[in-house]
Parts: sequence; structure tokens; C-alpha cells
Amino acid sequence: MGLILSDRHSCVLQSEIRNMSIECHRVDGINLAQGVCDTPVPEAVLQGAVAAIGQGINTYTHYAGLPRLREAIAVKQQRFSGITFDPESEIIVSAGATGALYCAFQALLNPGDEVIVFEPFYGYHISTLQAAGAVPVYLPLNSPEWSFSAHDLELVVTPRTRGIIVNTPANPSGKVFSSDELEIIAGFAERYDLFVFTDEIYEHFVYGNNVHRSFAALPGMGERTITVSGLSKTYSVTGWRIGYVLCDARWAQAIGYFNDLVYVCAPAPLQAGVASGLRELDESYYKNLAVAYQAKRDRFCDALALAGLSPHIPDGAYYVLADVSRIPGATGKERALHILHKAGVASVPGGAFYHDKRGEQMVRFCFAKEDAVLDEAICRLQLLD
Ligand code: PLP
Repeated sequence: MGLILSDRHSCVLQSEIRNMSIECHRVDGINLAQGVCDTPVPEAVLQGAVAAIGQGINTYTHYAGLPRLREAIAVKQQRFSGITFDPESEIIVSAGATGALYCAFQALLNPGDEVIVFEPFYGYHISTLQAAGAVPVYLPLNSPEWSFSAHDLELVVTPRTRGIIVNTPANPSGKVFSSDELEIIAGFAERYDLFVFTDEIYEHFVYGNNVHRSFAALPGMGERTITVSGLSKTYSVTGWRIGYVLCDARWAQAIGYFNDLVYVCAPAPLQAGVASGLRELDESYYKNLAVAYQAKRDRFCDALALAGLSPHIPDGAYYVLADVSRIPGATGKERALHILHKAGVASVPGGAFYHDKRGEQMVRFCFAKEDAVLDEAICRLQLLD
């Protein structure tokens, strides 16, 4: 038989995150590998979805999403970042932030276009670019502050550069981009006429004195910025698949048509559930979320330090990269497996976040877990010798 897989298939190989989750399940470990938050879903969100099913909101919605959800997203965005988006023409609800990014790349990038990605990166950003035929160009952040300079950007730009991805707060580093850094990126994007794709899915997971800033709010950046976010993390509904793109109407229509082609629409009653949450939950919900996750971060990072796995304390999101150079093994994967087999706690090998060997001394833990599960993981990590 002469049949073979497509050239494109290699950009969606089994991810290290999925591999570790499978091994974790096999040995009945605690899964701190995958970014699945198992904290409670707000009642308003649950009841909103249940009511919607009862009311018959079970058929296809407009490809851009239920009008009530788009309106609620517009209100939320105005409230939190001061930016106004027209629910009719500038908001596309998709199958999670993942679906939103997929459609945006399909609509806006051509094969061979280069897109700058800060490293360590979130692997889906790379695979999604590659699925569109685009080429990721890596810009390494300097550990431990995860800093970069305007000069670093100049080193990676070429005549083929078409965009840059800004993930703030970032997975896996926990970096929250400062206003100064965003302004550097804005100047750069303007100079080279680039799209700025922002992934702001962790916008409400920001700790201490750090503040999340939406890139689109920067002066003059509205038209070139494609803002992606969603409710998977904020409402602990990763399985519902509700995310969205916010951007100028000039881009939104084509992104919406791709959304129609690939997903038709996001799940109808779940869109309604999330809309209820956006309408009914007040400021305190989002504040309490950050406070609760900061407490988890602090407890978990203290435990890592005690276990001799020095943590890079994250300013946002809910992951922590830990230095595992003291753990036996030649690669990050061997070290992550050692931790899983000795302590029963799964993590992701650092190599999953780098295109070269620089992640081998690190693993990533996710601390978005119920306190009892986190406590058990903390106890188990102290068993590592
Ligand atoms: N973006 C980042 C940076 C993530 O870490 C994740 C999930 O881990 C996602 C997007 C996925 O979001 P969604 O569930 O809305 O597709």
C-alpha cells in the first residue's frame, strides 16, 4: 500500500503532557502534569447551562456565538481592560482558546510566515502555528526573571516575520508581562507591521503586586492585536470548550468563517452557562480566585523548595517550573518519571517547553488542584531522597 500520513501530521505528535498523564494513570499517581483545574465550577455557571438545556438551547448557534454571550464578553472586557469591542462584529466565540487561536492562525497566516514565540512556550502555540504552515521563531527568555530586551527582538526578526505571540500570564513560566515589556513589543510590532496574537487565558490568575494588562489596550495597538481568551480556567470548565477571539472587524469575519468550518459553533447550552457566569459573578469572584490560587502557589512552592526542587515562583497562571537537576536522570523526561515512580506525582518534563535541550533540568507542576489533593502531593514530594 502506498498510502502515507500527511506531511502535516508530525506537528501533532503525542504531547509529553498527554504521555505523562497516561503514565500517571497507570501508576495511580497524582496528576500535576495537565492543566486541568478540578476546583469547583461557580453555581451561576452550572445552573445557567442546566437551565439552557431545559429551555431548548440545544441547537447550532450563530457561528460567532450566542448574542447574549458576546454581549457579556464585551461588558467584561470593558470592565477589566477598558477596551470596547462590538459584540456584532468584533467577537467570535470558539471551541476554547485553542479553537480561537487555530481559527485566527488559519485566517491570518500564510505558509512560510514566521511568528516569534517566547521560550519557554506553550506547546499548542507551536503546533497550531505549524498546522497553519507558519514557522515559529524562538526568542528565549532569560531565567530566572524571564526577561528579554528590545535588542533580542531585533535579533530574530526577518522579512518573513508576520506576527508575535504574547502569552500573559504565561504557561509554563508564570511570567506576567510588565507595561514596559508590552510597550517594547508594541513599538516592535508597529515598526515591522506585525500581528500580535495574545493568549490571555490566565488573565485572572495574577499574584502579589502584578497586574494583567491586555495588549490591545496599548495606544495604537487595537487594530493589529488578536486577543484570545476563554473561561476554561476562570470557571474551571476546561471540558466545556468555550473561548473567544476579540479583534478588529476586518479580521473577525474571516476568523469566524474558519470557526464555522471547523466547529460550526461552540456548545450551545454551555455558551449560555458561561454567559450567566459573566453576568452574575461580581468583582469579588475574580479577586477571590486570585487569592485562593496565590495561597496554593505559596504552599506548593514552599514544598518544592523543602524537597530540594527549587521553584521559579510564578507571578501568574497556575504552573511552576522547578529545578530538578538533583534528581537522577539524563533528561527532563527521565527525571519526571523518577519523581512519578518514587513519589507518585506527575509533572511535565521541561523539554516540552523548549525547542532545544535547555529544559532538561526542569519539570513543570500544575497547582490548580483541590487543597486536599495538593496537600497529598506536597506530602509525597517530601518522600524524594
Ligand atoms: N492557552 C494556554 C496558555 C494554556 O495553558 C491553555 C491550557 O492549558 C489553553 C490556552 C487552552 O485553553 P482552552 O481550554 O480555552 O482551549
